[in-house]
Formats: sequence, structure tokens, C-alpha cells
Amino acid sequence: MEKTRLQKWMATCGVASRRHSEAIIAQGRVTVNGQVVREQGLQIDLEKDRVAVDGRVLEAPTSYAYYLYDKPEGLITTAHDPQGRPTIFDALPELRQQVVPVGRLDRDTSGLLILTNDGELTYRLTHPSYCVNKRYEVTVKGFISDKALRQLAKGIDLEDGRTAPAEVQLIHRSQRKSKIALTIHEGRKRQVRRMCQAVGHPVLALRRTEVAGLGLSKIAEGEVRPLTAQEVQQLY
Ligand code: URA
Repeated sequence: MEKTRLQKWMATCGVASRRHSEAIIAQGRVTVNGQVVREQGLQIDLEKDRVAVDGRVLEAPTSYAYYLYDKPEGLITTAHDPQGRPTIFDALPELRQQVVPVGRLDRDTSGLLILTNDGELTYRLTHPSYCVNKRYEVTVKGFISDKALRQLAKGIDLEDGRTAPAEVQLIHRSQRKSKIALTIHEGRKRQVRRMCQAVGHPVLALRRTEVAGLGLSKIAEGEVRPLTAQEVQQLY
């Protein structure tokens, strides 16, 4: 009799990372044998128990799929938006039943998003203990000073605590707007926007260009393509 924790099984089936699966359980969206389960860490029997999320019964993936997506602005990174706004799966309907996004980009952020049904990879790329680097190109309002660049690099006091040191690179600056590259390994909600706002420079445009050293090669904005085996290896 093989048993496993509910959120681990959800991650294995590609529902979401373990952490996000815990939130989905807490929202009452998960049933085990038809009963809603809100308890974290429930042990389930893989042979007997039927686990469903939003009414869809989970099955162990028979093969893994990995995609690179250059997300345009305007799409929500979720399978279903309760407010009915367009989601990434409205743009990628053929992938809806197959994969989930690894982490999230804000609706008004563009750029690199990985999609997979490999729960282990999702876990490695999103769990804070792995400290995975994410590089963003950020256009901000106004002329960004050297002092502001140093502050961003050192860490910023946000309402949810101080940010970890970041890598900052100036791309160009003018009186009207400036462009920087910011590499962070944390993944807090709207982190880059809040960091820039805190040093007095609201974000005008935000684009993710790298995750774990993987960039946006051989792809145009709005396109999706399978990752090569070498790229998948690079992410592990
Ligand atoms: N930081 C943000 O503020 N937004 C994103 O979409 C990603 C990182």
C-alpha cells in the first residue's frame, strides 16, 4: 500500500508546486473520495484514493511535458480567473489539460514562463530554499540615481520584510525613464514593482528574461515552444 502526502501528490500530478497546492487545499477545492479536504498533510493511498481538484480527478502523468512561453502583457497566469479576465490558457488552449505554469507573472508583466506537468521541477524552481535566480528587465519612471541602484542591490525594506541582496545592472537612463536589469531569487508578490516603487521609481514595463539561467532564445513574444532536453537538464 503506497501512501503519500496530499500536496506532494498534487505536485507530482502537475497541479501546482507543493506550497501552492497547500493553498488550493485550504480553499476547499480538493476532494478525496468525494469529500472536501482542508487538512494539510493528509496521507493518501495511491491505489485506493481518488483525488480531484476543482472536480477533475488526478492521474499520475505518464510522460512529462515542458514548454517555454513568452507571455504577453494582459494575460493572467492561472487556469481560471473568477473575474473572467483572459488567462494564459485562453492563449494556449491546447496546453490547458496538459501542464501548469511554474510560478506566476503579473497580468501586466511579459516574458519567460515555464509550463510543465513535472511537479518535482515546479517544486525546485519555486521553493524558496532553492534560491533560483530570475532576471527582469524593468523600465521605470524618471532618472534612476546611483544611490537608488545601490539600494535595490543591497535590499529594500518592504512591508513583508527586507528583500535579499539583488544583482542590478543599468541599461540606460534619461530624465523621463530608465531601464535596469534586476536579478532576484525571491518570489514575493509584485516584488520587483514594490522594490522600484520604494526607491521612488514606479514601474512602467516589466519583462522576465531569464529563470535559472534559461533565457528566451528562439522564441518571439506570444509564442510557446517545447524545451529541449538540454534546457530541461539545465533547469534541474
Ligand atoms: N515581480 C513583480 O513585481 N511582478 C512580476 O510579475 C514578477 C516579479
